[in-house]
Amino acid sequence: MQIPLVDLKAQYLSVRPEVDEAIQRVLDSTSFILGNEVAQFEQAFAGYVGCRGAVGVASGTAALHLALLACDMEPGDEVITTAHTFIATAEAISQTGARPVFVDIEPRTYNLDPNRVEDAITPHTKAILPVHLYGHPAEMEPLTDIAQRHNLWLIEDAAQAHGAEYKGQRCGAMGHLACFSFFPAKNIGAYGDAGCVTGSDEALLAKVRKLRNHGRAKKYEHERIGYGERLDALHAAVLAAKLHHLEDWIGARRAHARTYGQMLADCDVLTPCESPDARHVYCYYVIRVQQRDDLLAHLKAQGVGASIHYPIPLHRQPAYLNMGYGDVSLPVTEEAADEILSLPMYPELTDEQIHYVVEQIKEFLNGC
Ligand SMILES: *Cc1c(COP(=O)(O)O)cnc(C)c1O
Repeated sequence: MQIPLVDLKAQYLSVRPEVDEAIQRVLDSTSFILGNEVAQFEQAFAGYVGCRGAVGVASGTAALHLALLACDMEPGDEVITTAHTFIATAEAISQTGARPVFVDIEPRTYNLDPNRVEDAITPHTKAILPVHLYGHPAEMEPLTDIAQRHNLWLIEDAAQAHGAEYKGQRCGAMGHLACFSFFPAKNIGAYGDAGCVTGSDEALLAKVRKLRNHGRAKKYEHERIGYGERLDALHAAVLAAKLHHLEDWIGARRAHARTYGQMLADCDVLTPCESPDARHVYCYYVIRVQQRDDLLAHLKAQGVGASIHYPIPLHRQPAYLNMGYGDVSLPVTEEAADEILSLPMYPELTDEQIHYVVEQIKEFLNGC
């Protein structure tokens, strides 16, 4: 059996008529940049998240970059974030000239540890940027409290957390701004790069809207230097069609996580936790195991597309080592990076496939 980490083909086949119709509609309209399709998707996505507005942009990385710029990040500023994430989180901070300050994570949710954030605040700190990693929300209540007391911006990296909830609120509706990616393999993906910024502060959203489109205030009048980072109409149309299915897809992911959890219960692996305040959306299903590299090799040999998110913490990446992060020590992050393993997870996964994956893990662990 061959079981991929994600199966985009299976998903396309399940929504093919709606998606093909949406693409044809855009082709017939010959309106490819912004316009109605983008405005309609923005409204629908903001409604889904439960915030006032959304601004479609060219990628999740662009969403982070433009959100940080809208909050006036500039050289000399510091932004507190996690090193246990995709590099785009920190890269966007660096692109503004500000400096990412990496704080260690909680060992069970892998998210920014709120108890360590205040120690990292300096007179230069301007924002906190938590990531809702793997689809499990970060601890937003203590983080909001810290941000308020220190007068800092709170920007969510929700790139893996479409539909995730914390104390009844959706990710993307809790920070001053929030950033989503619609990279094809995310829980709702475009057919290319796409992203959006969400929030409820109209002035901030207006700034992002201007920044994505060359700083344009009105036609041929540019108020500030901006970027060409708009969401394409084709992607917006595909995303709008897919949005109707997102809750079902999340339900399927959650059911698969329960199945994995039950089947792995007696094994010497740590399965993901879901805190009582959270609705986990399992963008990735990440277990923890001592002999990770050997298990990964075994699974690959058996046709299972397991993977690691992420094997090298950001403070250990060459790009950041070259920027003076050599002395940074994040023991919880470093230990996690050596033990985490992402198992196949996508809505169309079958119980038979999950069973096969678990059998291979059990074989490696000598039964369990
Ligand atoms: C995918 C991802 C991004 C970047 O999104 P792109 O659309 O690929 O630019 C940022 N942060 C996290 C946590 C991600 O998973």
